[in-house]
Amino acid sequence: MPVKGRAAFFKEVKKPLVIEEIEFPDPGYDEVLLKTRAVGVCHTDLATIDGEFPPPPRMPAVLGHEIAGEVYAVGSGVKDLKVGDRVVLSWLWHTCGRCRYCRRGEEHLCENLVETGRHVYGGYAEYVLAKASHVIKIPEGVPWEYAPAATDAIATPFKALRMVNAQEGDVVVVWGVGALGFNAIQIAKAKGCTVIAVGRSEFKLKKAKEVGADHVVNARETNPVEEIKKITGDGADIVLNFVPTDMKAYEQSFDALRKGGTLVLIGYPPGKLCLPVIEWGLLEKKVIASLAFTRFDIAESLRLIAQGKVKPVITVYKGLDSINQALDDLRKGKVLGRPVVVMD
Ligand SMILES: [Zn+2]
Ligand SMILES: [Zn+2]
Repeated sequence: MPVKGRAAFFKEVKKPLVIEEIEFPDPGYDEVLLKTRAVGVCHTDLATIDGEFPPPPRMPAVLGHEIAGEVYAVGSGVKDLKVGDRVVLSWLWHTCGRCRYCRRGEEHLCENLVETGRHVYGGYAEYVLAKASHVIKIPEGVPWEYAPAATDAIATPFKALRMVNAQEGDVVVVWGVGALGFNAIQIAKAKGCTVIAVGRSEFKLKKAKEVGADHVVNARETNPVEEIKKITGDGADIVLNFVPTDMKAYEQSFDALRKGGTLVLIGYPPGKLCLPVIEWGLLEKKVIASLAFTRFDIAESLRLIAQGKVKPVITVYKGLDSINQALDDLRKGKVLGRPVVVMD
């Protein structure tokens, strides 16, 4: 029997989401219907609402792709999940498993990716339909409000550090102290790295120190490259840059690398990056991008929370009705870490 519930619809650019009651379908053969318990409010959604990102191909849309929920109903073909199981669902609503990228273990690049919140209804709703293959069980000891972080805000920096093979002894600079940055600091510390956090807000840098950064650098008040060189002697092994707006931060990140160091682009400011080729070559610096994550990274992120190695920095909002408030606070830069809407 289809179940009735509320969903927050994105109908028009730059307008608040509109909450309406709809019928959620029964899960198909290989699907589950989740009752949403907590959902992360992501910058990507904000950029979509504000018209900075293209609108979802299917409008009106239900955004929200950092979902923790309880299995409410299971399709007839689903054998490994049962009603009441606690799971998460990410942006990867479905990946095909048969394209070149899926076969190579890079499902985030899938040619046939179905995106949660863009191609199908997402988590700003009381229920969400999901493919059983793409939900991941939440281990014991992970509270609802922390679980959504595993589907993006932890998984993204986790994969970036996995790609560059960060290891004990490396100096890792975390450039940008938003939700992902705070988690990146904790993951790098868990790997035995020395961590320098770079930000522009004293209040957020204080939090960066609290979650484990060995050093913090205020890029508004000092020259961050000089500060990093002062701390390290010759620069960083790895810079993870999360800054979404400021291209200068990427040029500075490149300058802050020591020989053989790697700059990882994670925030994507619009524009072109201009780098000195001779220095690039002679110092054998590397510049790579890390997009999103795979289901492997989500499962590992849940493990890190369960083991207490990462405690995501979040701000809790209560009930679906608080969604527009959460988005607005995020827009104004008022939120510390990730806003998470916890359902009633
Ligand atoms: Zn997200
Ligand atoms: Zn694929």
